[in-house]
Amino acid sequence: MKGFRYLKNVVTLTLRQEDCVGCNKCQEVCPHQVFEIRERKAHIVDLHACLECGACATNCPVAAISVDAGVGCAIGLINEWLQERKAGGFGGGFLS
Ligand code: SF4
Ligand code: SF4
Repeated sequence: MKGFRYLKNVVTLTLRQEDCVGCNKCQEVCPHQVFEIRERKAHIVDLHACLECGACATNCPVAAISVDAGVGCAIGLINEWLQERKAGGFGGGFLS
């Protein structure tokens, strides 16, 4: 998904391409177009668009995909950070 990124270097998604049978399920279910299928193999083409929903791993028939769904969901971290910042968190507090 172009123009949409979560935090870099926190995504837990991995693909064992040697196990892939090219069924296309991961590409079909991924909401952020993280995968492409080329020459009957899945390729991760947009790793940092992954929101760790787990749909690809759940639907892969040969368990070629691994992701810690819901554990390191970066959007959750961003939202938490924004909320804390709005509330004056991170040690800053309100000055008044
Ligand atoms: S975990 Fe969800 S967002 Fe990430 S690659 Fe799989 S289907 Fe796409
Ligand atoms: S769902 Fe699994 S087997 Fe199917 S294309 Fe994706 S990685 Fe390959």
